[in-house]
Amino acid sequence: MGKPTGFKEFDRKKVAWRLPVVRMEDYGEIYTEPENDQLREQGARCMDCGVPFCQSGTGCPIDNLIPEWNDLVYNNRWKEAIERLHKTNNFPEFTGRVCPAPCEGSCVLGITNPPVTIKNIENAIVDRAWKEGWIVPSAPKERTGKKVAIIGSGPAGLAAADQLNKVGHEVTVYERADRIGGLLQYGIPNMKLDKDVLQRRLDKMTAEGIRFVTNANVGQDVDAKELVEANDAVLLACGATKPRDLPIPGRDLKGVSYAMDFLTANTKHKVHGDALTDQFISAEGKDVIVIGGGDTGTDCIGTSIRHGCRSMVNFELLPQPPAERAGDNPWPEWPRTFRVDYGHEEAEAKFGSDPRTYQILSKEFLGDENGNLTGIRTVQVEWTKTEEGGWNMKEVEGSEKEWPAQVILLAMGFLGPEQPIAEALGISTDPRSNFEAKHGEFTTSIPGIFAAGDCRRGQSLVVWAINEGRGAARAIDIYLRGHSSLPAPGITMGSQLVAN
Ligand SMILES: Cc1cc2nc3c(=O)[nH]c(=O)nc-3n(C[C@H](O)[C@H](O)[C@H](O)COP(=O)(O)OP(=O)(O)OC[C@H]3O[C@@H](n4cnc5c(N)ncnc54)[C@H](O)[C@@H]3O)c2cc1C
Ligand code: SF4
Repeated sequence: MGKPTGFKEFDRKKVAWRLPVVRMEDYGEIYTEPENDQLREQGARCMDCGVPFCQSGTGCPIDNLIPEWNDLVYNNRWKEAIERLHKTNNFPEFTGRVCPAPCEGSCVLGITNPPVTIKNIENAIVDRAWKEGWIVPSAPKERTGKKVAIIGSGPAGLAAADQLNKVGHEVTVYERADRIGGLLQYGIPNMKLDKDVLQRRLDKMTAEGIRFVTNANVGQDVDAKELVEANDAVLLACGATKPRDLPIPGRDLKGVSYAMDFLTANTKHKVHGDALTDQFISAEGKDVIVIGGGDTGTDCIGTSIRHGCRSMVNFELLPQPPAERAGDNPWPEWPRTFRVDYGHEEAEAKFGSDPRTYQILSKEFLGDENGNLTGIRTVQVEWTKTEEGGWNMKEVEGSEKEWPAQVILLAMGFLGPEQPIAEALGISTDPRSNFEAKHGEFTTSIPGIFAAGDCRRGQSLVVWAINEGRGAARAIDIYLRGHSSLPAPGITMGSQLVAN
């Protein structure tokens, strides 16, 4: 424990984001450079708890050794800190930037005081390690001669690839998109995760011997059965890519789009500089409505603002969360409280108010005679608790309203993986259409074929994808060799937190 009285002496102080009015002018990351002394003070706030709730249980899904690296940072032992961090996390620069930090929600200090700034400390450790040149390729000394194919290059596929390569298996990752990274590449925008940060990790993995094949849609460009026959094991890490639709009248009007179509084309064109195609959806000068909250909704808000939208409204079906934990949401659960994310801050800075409006049900998209979207009709709803403890939604009479909009983005979550691969391989799916495989075992109904990440658990978080990729790698290693030295990340976790 760095400083026994640290938690009494120092207040929580987060690493600041760039000012909204400045950052909304570009696609650079929102974060500012952290200061060493500030990070050390924040590390000193850690109480090195006898039972560190931050580290497992409802806290960190990959069992990050949080009190250890808090102490190391306080003592200026940064190189040891990255070694500890890499023991449990293949990609701290991703979680350090985008994780909602269930660890902080479970931090013991959070019972009486604001929690330790764990996420900032994690990010600072790994960014410094890259800067100092401490993170370098290290290929395995021996190869096992076993071949593993991974389908999908999101954080689950990448974490599994990294782990399996470390123990000497020959790993090839197949990705149908033109670039590697899954939602790290084409979902989460540059403002939260710069694509160079992703690329330097991919370059390291390539130098260590992992093969990446892009534009390889397994089931279409690559025969799924042949892939299984040509490899000793296959991991499905295809993500939950089926977006939830809003099938109300007017759905086919020009101007209603899925959030992912908007975000993907934006990253291709505005960040990577790819040629403008008719896939690109411009919000410039438009009245934009984003339907659905969560990370996807926020990313649509932030991106539309960068395009120069004329107005921004964000519909939420549910009531506004409370400012403080409700009685049925005690510590150490994830606090279901009102939060202001980067997109909300930017909308407030640009338009003078938070863009979110609650308890709104969409009834009909409105259009002109040419099939172009002109707006949406909504109704206010009321939520009441049922006797069984569930919720009842009721429309409020006379609350109908029409809103102008030329762009409406659907950000209402995802409904599981696409089915063609499961059908081609004869894999069983669960009632939610996810690939059926038990957490901790990760084997599907067909021996030798495994599943991990959002395609197995449903839409979730980057940190959970890493948990699953690491766990699946261990399961595959045991399948191939009968034993494994790879660690098993938390398998008893209960966090229901998701990004949508
Ligand atoms: C817009 C958005 C923002 C988000 N923001 C956050 C955030 O801030 N923090 C957070 O923790 N989580 C966030 N999430 C959730 C997080 O990104 C996902 O939970 C995580 O990426 C899931 O990882 P995965 O590896 O399982 O799948 P994915 O990242 O979805 O990757 C799956 C990959 O498989 C590929 N694929 C699918 N089928 C095939 C096939 N047949 N052949 C070849 N390739 C195939 C896909 O193209 C994709 O690249 C966000 C999600 C979205 C949509
Ligand atoms: S719960 Fe909070 S105070 Fe306790 S060890 Fe973890 S980070 Fe430190």
